[in-house]
Amino acid sequence: MTAKIIDGKEFAATVRAKVAIHVARLKEEHGITPGLAVVLVGQDAASEVYVRNKNKSTVEVGMNSYEHKLPADTSEADLLALIDNLNNDPAVHGILCQLPLPDHLNEELVINSIIPAKDVDGFHISNVGLLATGQKSMVPCTPLGCLMMLRDHHGSLSGLNAVVVGRSNIVGKPMAALLLKDSCTVTIAHSRTKNIEALCRSADILVAAVGRPEMITSDWIGEGATVIDVGINRIPAPERGEGKNRLVGDVHFASAVEKAGAITPVPGGVGPMTIACLLANAVTACCRANGLDEPEGLTA
Ligand code: NDP
Repeated sequence: MTAKIIDGKEFAATVRAKVAIHVARLKEEHGITPGLAVVLVGQDAASEVYVRNKNKSTVEVGMNSYEHKLPADTSEADLLALIDNLNNDPAVHGILCQLPLPDHLNEELVINSIIPAKDVDGFHISNVGLLATGQKSMVPCTPLGCLMMLRDHHGSLSGLNAVVVGRSNIVGKPMAALLLKDSCTVTIAHSRTKNIEALCRSADILVAAVGRPEMITSDWIGEGATVIDVGINRIPAPERGEGKNRLVGDVHFASAVEKAGAITPVPGGVGPMTIACLLANAVTACCRANGLDEPEGLTA
């Protein structure tokens, strides 16, 4: 059996197109342009690329993008003052503070200073609590993207056995909460889990969010299971030339594709969905702030 490849790039394009339609409708019918503010502190090269892509995608769907680049030695007080301004700015519906922050800044404090209604990353403790209790919240973008792809592939997820490998606050835990909300039977595995291979083999849905290149081979995968590979790992690729790298997931794709029923590739799977879901969250936040119906199919 060769798995169906779940094309995250194509799916993300459809999500962005839906967002663009809602943005156009908000402008035409209500005179509102959703606005997304992205705050970047310091000059981390990877973060700069992410922020550039986020701004570009925001403008492409017709939203206003507000970029705030601050020097690496910005004080906590200055950063909190900027966030306070953005919290109170009616033109800004979503705020994202690019992580990681420089060491002298308290990440938890900064994240929790963004008002929950504008917290498009879904990391604020109130949004975490709302999601954990199955209530309406802002949902972290990466797990939201995984959920959208799973719903699209399976229709209903009710009653399916899901195993999430990884228990981070940004991927593993919210992913598990979302799957539980959709009535899966959910197990979270991590570095201390016993018999992890057998546990993973029992899954109808296997989500890998570990950060270990190609750790999950076909022996970990049940025949016909759906595999969502969140991992993004850069490994040396001497076959491409000296000093070259390539991206791989946490799943050993070449073997897994022969056993799974469906699988997301890396690159081109979960990655493109993350930015698309950030845009979806921004338009959702804008609708909620204005007491309007939320866009269908773009929230959890
Ligand atoms: P973290 O490092 O925060 O968490 C990794 C998790 O994997 C931990 O819970 C850890 O367990 C678990 N783990 C580590 N080793 C093993 C092992 N041998 N067996 C079982 N579990 C193990 O990572 P993130 O959740 O932030 O990210 C995970 C991956 O997803 C990374 O590759 C990251 O780059 C990628 N990512 C991709 C995104 C995208 O847009 N596609 C967005 C965010 C992340 P323990 O808690 O016990 O240590």
